[in-house]
Amino acid sequence: MRASLVEIFSSFQGEGTYVGAPTIFVRFGGCDLRCRWCDSPTTWTASRSCRIERRAGSGDFDTVANPVEIDTVVDRVRGLGLRDASFVSATGGEPLLQPGAVAALGHALRDDPARFWLETHGLHVDALRRVAGVVDVVSMDWKLPGEVERASGAAGGFADAHRVFLEVALGSAECLVKIVVTEATRDEEWDEACRGVASVAPEVPFIVQPVTPVENPLGRIERRPSAARLMELQRAAELHLRTVRIIPQTHPLLEAL
Ligand code: SF4
Repeated sequence: MRASLVEIFSSFQGEGTYVGAPTIFVRFGGCDLRCRWCDSPTTWTASRSCRIERRAGSGDFDTVANPVEIDTVVDRVRGLGLRDASFVSATGGEPLLQPGAVAALGHALRDDPARFWLETHGLHVDALRRVAGVVDVVSMDWKLPGEVERASGAAGGFADAHRVFLEVALGSAECLVKIVVTEATRDEEWDEACRGVASVAPEVPFIVQPVTPVENPLGRIERRPSAARLMELQRAAELHLRTVRIIPQTHPLLEAL
């Protein structure tokens, strides 16, 4: 089994309820969405090569051709150092576009001390079923249709697929739901999203992530929503959900060190 990857590196979890946890990231290439705030546009299409960090935190990378054998991925992940409190995160791009590779990686690391994390846009439920049993934590996005499009240009909302996905994910893994908010986030779509999550799991950790200013091929986002707006969104979410947390991305701070 082989995987088309962008990079493997060691860092800290920068988002969600496990922020700060030591994490080795395996970034898969290819994504079928286009989010206005995406900070990884180089993952949108498969790349010819993958960079792999030589030593944890060194910032020195080897370059290997894609696709990469899963045995090689496992060796290089182990080489970056796994321990009990750590995670291996399959991220992207969208890892569930390569479910066989995600399942093989999770399976190979099953007896290692780290927990296996899946970062996903939360739409491909059949692929999720293929990796169930090897994933310990599912961190799924809940996409608001106003700011996210399918790469194919196909129309249609995401809510129904997200609901089914969350239901299946909860059957075999710890889950958290993450939702990026911008100044353009509308009250109606916010209410619909909160009700949608609550209809499946009102107790699931619901992470509100104020957008990080970014420029990508879709354009530029210059500002985060104000603190007052974030409080308003949190109060509205709390009408339906028990654990609502405002947590900005923290890895940009680390990169600035
Ligand atoms: S799903 Fe993730 S990788 Fe894909 S466009 Fe959106 S933010 Fe970027």
